[in-house]
Amino acid sequence: MIVILLGPPGAGKGTQAQRIEKMQGLVQLSTGDMLRAAVIANTEVGKKAKGFMEAGRLVTDKIVIKIIEDRIQEGDCKKGFLLDGFPRTLTQAKALDNMLDQKSLKLDAVVEIQVDDRDLVDRIIGRYTCTNCNQGYHGENLKPKVDGVCDDCGSTNFKRRVDDNQETVSSRLEAYHCQTAPLLPYYEEQGVLKVVNGMVDIDDVSVQINDVLSSLN
Ligand code: ADP
Ligand code: AMP
Repeated sequence: MIVILLGPPGAGKGTQAQRIEKMQGLVQLSTGDMLRAAVIANTEVGKKAKGFMEAGRLVTDKIVIKIIEDRIQEGDCKKGFLLDGFPRTLTQAKALDNMLDQKSLKLDAVVEIQVDDRDLVDRIIGRYTCTNCNQGYHGENLKPKVDGVCDDCGSTNFKRRVDDNQETVSSRLEAYHCQTAPLLPYYEEQGVLKVVNGMVDIDDVSVQINDVLSSLN
């Protein structure tokens, strides 16, 4: 199964992708995570991406398309994958269509997680993750069961993203509305767009997404 999770920054794509990965064994491909790893490793890609990411702007299509092209060749993608944060422009969407065509694969669904802009800021500012296993949390909405201890791996080290600040959020939302939202009619026309309400509890969003995924099996 090949599924795209689409939605603005902070909509809950990563949170839901981690859950689907655990429940369905579908590998999560997050271009944001891959780019952050490249920045930390100070690779050529990381050096090129860093400035764009810190400014809340999209990294160039060429860079992210190459990352995904390479990643989907790997063995763990054979059973399918879940795209989180890619595609984000029409150029990327068309490149993905070509990649799938060449492998005789088809896109099963694009799940749009709808959340109003006014709710996204609190979600982004409150977000943090486990440094060891990348499990996502939120200061108010999703705390570890034991304060300061990761539910998944027991680590006590957590981190916040450098781009999760008030200044960058508005650029990131603008990038979403101008460059990514045009993908919605694009996928609607392909007949693969499924919309879920992202303004309810995390568990309730998962139920809606599971319903969509079950309807595809
Ligand atoms: P995205 O990957 O779309 O940028 P995340 O999955 O990282 O978004 O979610 C952003 C923050 O909002 C995280 O801290 C997460 O715990 C929290 N969050 C996710 N979904 C919900 C929800 N339905 N209600 C409240 N908070 C949520
Ligand atoms: P994310 O973790 O999905 O919120 O992405 C963090 C940042 O990485 C974005 O603000 C962009 O700068 C960059 N990025 C991630 N995915 C893409 C993409 N598909 N196209 C362009 N830039 C991306």
